[in-house]
Amino acid sequence: MSAIRYISTRQGSGPSVERLTFEEVVLAGLARDGGLYVPETWPTLSKAEIGALRGLSYPELATRLMVPFVGDAFDAATLGRLVGEAYAGFDDPGVVRLKPLPVGDLYLLELFHGPTLAFKDVALQFLGRTLDALLTRAGRRARIIGATSGDTGSAAIEAVRDRKAIDIFMLHPEGRVSEVQRRQMTTVLAPNVHNIAIEGTFDDCQDLAKACFNDLPFRDRHRLTAVNSINFARVMAQIVYYFHAALSLGAPDRPVSFCVPTGNFGNIYAGYAARAMGLPVERLLIASNSNDILARFIESGEQRLAGVTPTWSPSMDIQVSSNFERFLFDLFDRDGKALARAMHAFRATGAMSVSAAQLARARATFDAGRLDDAGTLSAIADARRETGELLDPHTAVAYAVARQRRGARDVPMVVLATAHPAKFPDAVRTATGEAPPLPARLADLATKAERCTTLPNDIAALKRLMDEVAVFA
Ligand SMILES: *Cc1c(COP(=O)(O)O)cnc(C)c1O
Repeated sequence: MSAIRYISTRQGSGPSVERLTFEEVVLAGLARDGGLYVPETWPTLSKAEIGALRGLSYPELATRLMVPFVGDAFDAATLGRLVGEAYAGFDDPGVVRLKPLPVGDLYLLELFHGPTLAFKDVALQFLGRTLDALLTRAGRRARIIGATSGDTGSAAIEAVRDRKAIDIFMLHPEGRVSEVQRRQMTTVLAPNVHNIAIEGTFDDCQDLAKACFNDLPFRDRHRLTAVNSINFARVMAQIVYYFHAALSLGAPDRPVSFCVPTGNFGNIYAGYAARAMGLPVERLLIASNSNDILARFIESGEQRLAGVTPTWSPSMDIQVSSNFERFLFDLFDRDGKALARAMHAFRATGAMSVSAAQLARARATFDAGRLDDAGTLSAIADARRETGELLDPHTAVAYAVARQRRGARDVPMVVLATAHPAKFPDAVRTATGEAPPLPARLADLATKAERCTTLPNDIAALKRLMDEVAVFA
């Protein structure tokens, strides 16, 4: 397999198309034309090649699958070392854990054995090290600025703590994240980690981060970057566990389906990528909470904006799923100009539609279901009774949707478990009356020292602080 190049989802075709390397794509994140980068072609594996991956350890499998994506950016030994280091800190020796459930030929794929007990660690632990290696080699440094409502900040911080070429500034709304969420961020005392509590809301934090990006001289001076879910390296790292689970369940001789608690569509898009690479994925089931723009799309062929409703599963409280554009690009037969027009119209009018033929193609791969907050609590209780498992609210949404829309019985259905239940103790306790046991990683959190700076909701104060913090050396 030869090295692949990457193109933007909003570019035209022809000889003038920009074709980027993996290194360029990782360092850029979002494309300059507002699109997202996707591989020009997917590396495909024959049935025999997929069969030959059976029995590899998770890091070995990851390295094999990533080689064609990274191209010349790393030799196989360097890539293997980055992968090994990324997953060495996971609690489970197998990195992820597949468990059969005693109902309906369902399986649970636990993706939460990383440092912050959420699936984002699987991709971010790899991306942090990859970014650091690429920057170091280029003799460059970068600063990450991010805003968090509590859940994702710690995964980004853990991904880059102690990395030599990266500083991170993470904003959270003071007093509006849970104690556990705050401590998961503020007890990281690495010198390149800067936690900032803003006297304001999450929206204020997001506006401040955006304002830093929009001030171009400031952005260049600080070499600002982001590690959000549109970075292709995150998709690439997530493809691995789809292969891992399917191989354990008999692929390539037997198809497998997946049900994924979905927010930004990054996780489930990796399942789509695995299918494009040749893995026999029968069905990808999108599980939404009340913020159900994607479930409505699968029903009607229309993406229509609605306000965001806060739910028990906050990481799925999303108005527009940014990675969905990567799938739409294929649905538009990779016509970036047509997709750019549709996306601009979507932005202007709050709605966009696809044709009946396009919708039929989408439904050939994806199905979708939704669950409201009351249903989420019932699903946590049902799962406890039916399977003995305590599920976090995100996973519970997927569990219920998988049971509702199971499809063919002879195909195993894997429910992706995206967070440890101890991260959402209130929902679990309300649903079951039980407090989820505290994993070892969280046990000593309450007694560790914290470091955090409080700032007013004021862009000048934030910029002053960032100017005063010398680039970590
Ligand atoms: C981020 C997240 C999701 C949503 O994943 P996407 O890739 O954004 O679709 C689901 N569950 C948990 C616990 C998450 O942290």
